[in-house]
Amino acid sequence: MGQRCIACGEPAGYNRAVVDTVGGVRVGALCVNCERAEFGRSLERGRWRGVDGCAFCDRDGFYALPQWVPDCRRDDAALVSTVAYEVTEATATVCDEHLHALRDDPPRDDRTRK
Ligand SMILES: [Zn+2]
Ligand SMILES: [Zn+2]
Repeated sequence: MGQRCIACGEPAGYNRAVVDTVGGVRVGALCVNCERAEFGRSLERGRWRGVDGCAFCDRDGFYALPQWVPDCRRDDAALVSTVAYEVTEATATVCDEHLHALRDDPPRDDRTRK
C-alpha cells in the first residue's frame, strides 16, 4: 500500500491520513516525523472539538488530519485486523493554503527527484 507522506514523500505508514473534507476522499498521509516537525504534539493533545476551521488561521478547514486507528475484529474463525480513520468534529483540520505550506516545506537535504 503506497501511501506517502505529503510533506517528505517517504512512506508514511499508518500515522495520519489527509482527507479532503468536501469529497471525503483521502488525498495523502502525514508521517510521524513530519507531524512532530510541523505540529509537535499539538495534534494529539489539542482540543480540536472547539476549533472551527483551519488549525493555523481563521479560514475553513478543507483537509482533515485524522489518526489511523488499528482495530481487531472477529470475523468467523479468523481474527481480522484493520486500520481505519474517522473524521469527527474533534479532528484537526487545515485550510488548503496551510496544506500547501506542509507540502512546500523546504527539503532538509538535496533532493533531485520530483
Ligand atoms: Zn513525512
Ligand atoms: Zn490555514
